[in-house]
Amino acid sequence: MTNKTTLWRGIKERCPKCGQGQLFQSYIKQNDHCAICHEDFSTIRADDAPPWLTILITGHIVAPWIFFFVRHEEISEFWEVFILLSLALFCVFTILPRAKGFFIAAIWLTRQKNPEREEEENSENTP
Ligand SMILES: [Zn+2]
Repeated sequence: MTNKTTLWRGIKERCPKCGQGQLFQSYIKQNDHCAICHEDFSTIRADDAPPWLTILITGHIVAPWIFFFVRHEEISEFWEVFILLSLALFCVFTILPRAKGFFIAAIWLTRQKNPEREEEENSENTP
């Protein structure tokens, strides 16, 4: 299994280990473990990385349309706001769970390649 395959499984919101189980029990609520292979995800926290990537991508999709509307003043402000808001919301709701899956897979992949690091992190977190 290549790194690319593992990350692609994350983007598809699937378990990075088996590619079958769901990563999320709802929109972006992470499962504690895979229902198929029982891989543990409870210690993986993507934190602020998925929103960061989502905003980065959404900004690059929406920004050209802002410049387009500035140059085309004949389009009413209502339609400008409606189109920009719809596009931004669609991008955010589409990209966010995939970005979270990507980062969960990336963290899982990093731990597979460096298992003694995970043991150090776990021993630091236990009092
Ligand atoms: Zn699995």
